[in-house]
Amino acid sequence: MISLVLLGAAGRMGRAVEQAAAGSADLQIKARVDRAERLPPPGARAAGEAWSDSLESSLAKGDVVVDFSAGPATRAAARLAGARGAALVSGTTGLDPAAEAELRTASERVAVLRSANFSLGVAALRRALAATIAALPPSWDVEIVERHHRGKVDSPSGTALVLAKEAASIRGWKSDVLRFGREGRVGPRPASEIGVHAVRGGTWIGDHAVLLSGDGEWVELRHVACDRQSFAVGAVAAARFVATAPAGLYTMDDVLNPAGR
Ligand code: NAD
Repeated sequence: MISLVLLGAAGRMGRAVEQAAAGSADLQIKARVDRAERLPPPGARAAGEAWSDSLESSLAKGDVVVDFSAGPATRAAARLAGARGAALVSGTTGLDPAAEAELRTASERVAVLRSANFSLGVAALRRALAATIAALPPSWDVEIVERHHRGKVDSPSGTALVLAKEAASIRGWKSDVLRFGREGRVGPRPASEIGVHAVRGGTWIGDHAVLLSGDGEWVELRHVACDRQSFAVGAVAAARFVATAPAGLYTMDDVLNPAGR
């Protein structure tokens, strides 16, 4: 039986992971952790449901933390998971370098899996993008437009950054070619540039379009998440993977295609 500790349990993704894990014979949700002001009052909890505002008091060796929270919480969770011997699945995006470093440090002691997007469709989109760029001349311009709900706090999305960096890498460019929005007299578009544009509003769950534009024609590759279950099911698969994996830093590619990319 795999014991899950959900960090950010009261949030949109925390609730979706709870739903995705429900009824699985090999998984139990041992604890749900969130900020004190977000914990449901005792009367609103289901029988036997454990909630806490402290990961430290909830985590033991062998547990799997599933984290959809925010940068500072992810950083603290990585430090604690490494110290306690608990595996970690983190989907939190917009992390600062200190949190990124803490995840790498933890991965020397426990299995850590990070993904900016747990959906199967985005994994397929990434492969389609690599194949499409390789099939087109380098003169074709690449731009990414992402749309998310009004509550999203980081921009552009982690997924848009992954797509843009992978596109840059296939072209042999560094990440400094990414151009986040345009305003004013910016002049003609340089050939070695990848535009990344973030739209925010309403309840969009996640929409990523990659536009590849040539002379007189263009191609659009697009993924739309209409339900958070598309991410939650992948996060649960990742939790099963890290529960038995040796220490190391993993991505969804290791779960979806363990024999290699
Ligand atoms: P949300 O705001 O609905 O939920 C985040 C939860 O984390 C909140 O309940 C908040 O109280 C909690 N939290 C924040 N700081 C905490 C702390 N110090 N201790 C305990 N709990 C804390 O946000 P969301 O839509 O669920 O998204 C959460 C994160 O997951 C974001 O970074 C988002 O971009 C990312 N996300 C990733 C994927 C993916 O597939 N990787 C998919 C959707 C969202």
